[in-house]
Amino acid sequence: MSDTQNSALAAPGKTNFIRQIIEQDLASGKHARILTRFPPEPNGYLHIGHAKSIVLNFGLALDYPGHCNLRFDDTNPLKENLEFVAAIEADVRWLGYDWGERTFFASDYFQQLHDFAVDLIRKGLAYVCDLDAEQTRAYRGTLTEPGQDSPYRDRPIAENLDLFARMRAGEFPDGARTLRAKIDMASPNINLRDPVLYRIKHGVTHHQTGSQWCLYPMYDYTHPISDALEGITHSLCTLEFEDHRPLYDWVIDNLDLPCKPRQIEFSRLNLEYTVMSKRLLTQLVGEGHVEGWDDPRLPTLAGLRRRGYTPAAIRAFCDRIGITKSDNLVEMSLLENTIREDLDATSDRRLAVLHPLKVVIEDYPAEREESIELANHPKDAARGVRALGFGPELYIDRADFAEDPPKGFKRLVPGGEVRLRGAYVIRCDQVIKDAAGEIVELRCRHDAATLGRNPEGRKVKGVIHWVPAASAVTAEVRLYDRLFAVPHPGAAGRDFLNDINPDSLRTLTGCLVEPALLAAAPGDRFQFEREGYFVVDRDSRRDRLVFNRTVGLRDTWTSQSH
Ligand code: ATP
Ligand code: MG
Repeated sequence: MSDTQNSALAAPGKTNFIRQIIEQDLASGKHARILTRFPPEPNGYLHIGHAKSIVLNFGLALDYPGHCNLRFDDTNPLKENLEFVAAIEADVRWLGYDWGERTFFASDYFQQLHDFAVDLIRKGLAYVCDLDAEQTRAYRGTLTEPGQDSPYRDRPIAENLDLFARMRAGEFPDGARTLRAKIDMASPNINLRDPVLYRIKHGVTHHQTGSQWCLYPMYDYTHPISDALEGITHSLCTLEFEDHRPLYDWVIDNLDLPCKPRQIEFSRLNLEYTVMSKRLLTQLVGEGHVEGWDDPRLPTLAGLRRRGYTPAAIRAFCDRIGITKSDNLVEMSLLENTIREDLDATSDRRLAVLHPLKVVIEDYPAEREESIELANHPKDAARGVRALGFGPELYIDRADFAEDPPKGFKRLVPGGEVRLRGAYVIRCDQVIKDAAGEIVELRCRHDAATLGRNPEGRKVKGVIHWVPAASAVTAEVRLYDRLFAVPHPGAAGRDFLNDINPDSLRTLTGCLVEPALLAAAPGDRFQFEREGYFVVDRDSRRDRLVFNRTVGLRDTWTSQSH
């Protein structure tokens, strides 16, 4: 792990039913070491749901004697590519895990998978079937009705061997024939009704095996064999594979494999206000509803990274949600609170004015500039200080001034006083407006005795942030919010695109930030005081600073009626 030192993020006791199984297996001597695997299909970018599986699998390998393999489950070349392979590796590494040389591809086993299929045919446990896809479906039956045997089910072994060899040699077109397991067409478990093991696919180039094969194995056949060949002890997958476990075991029990991995299912992560299906994510990216796989509004790890999330916060979130067998929908605020907690502890404070309003301090000498010292972190003196120039002209946020203040408004009002963060108490004497009636400038005076001291004889409650006109730097700030306006996008048959939050991105271009931020590099994270947590975007350059809002300072969603 590259950064385990984040002690600020407490996790609950980590134990769960999978850990208990592993501890028993180690205690009983069934295994001396464990081997887990994370098996992504390289047909998209990883998302926060995958993180749950990564943290589980790699976390187990760190906590118990053992390892975790990264295995690309690449049996469907039509949708997979090398961009996805590279992105997945980068994301797992970014999360803090190192798998050394343990990169595998299911396609590494294509020859062995083929040879095992021949073994099954020889044992009378697999046959070549000439039904097309539609007929196969019709013969399969339903949840309430048993299936019917394929007319090809009792083909002699020799004929099956011959046809399978010719399938491999490319003699038959796509869909003309499949290889199927011979299990039980009347099984109450549809997965056992003679599942297809191999299909024919011509004319595709696989990112690993090129055009070597025109025969591709199905996931349910490939996965158990890949696990067994690698020596996986505990094969952890999500609940929808529970009904596939009898098939997983059937494949392993009927082949001569080096070991017998145990499949264990846990519930997948579902998160409010977002979608996690790769099909939907691919649609959002492909149709341009977002700006790419690393759009900061997406739940992809690349998007969360660009949004400013830290690996530590994502790992802590995964620990906090825990591992169980019950389906659940996790509140987005849990994820947001975790990153907020992390960034509160680990990010330097800066002053940034998002909607600038000019303030002229009339009684401050025009030529004077003094240096104000500001702590980088209110609770962590080790993070040091920085200097900020204070002069007669500065900017505050428009929201911090009100001509006609609502009740309880503690910021600047005509004739009222407020403290400028780290500097003086000022009083607003005059409001200057343009021809359209818009406020363009405030004329103020300062109390010279209030630098680092309370004013005499009165209380000033409000503290607002500011930047000096002389040295502030213009910046673009991207205010990201949740991508969807409702907790369950696309529920009740709605098109999920209709649930997109129209305010998920607001771009502010004329923001002013303190000059210390010129030294910031893409990926650096800050708290903009009183505004939220921000990260320097990868588009940011010294002459065009760009910041992305990671999350606001407080949870504003749960108190709203969204
Ligand atoms: P999709 O069905 O949307 O294509 P997938 O689950 O098939 O997604 P894979 O790349 O096959 O995506 O997933 C790799 C691993 O990550 C699998 O072991 C899968 O169970 C796990 N995983 C995927 N999504 C989640 C999730 N939301 N919560 C927990 N684990 C997940
Ligand atoms: Mg999958």
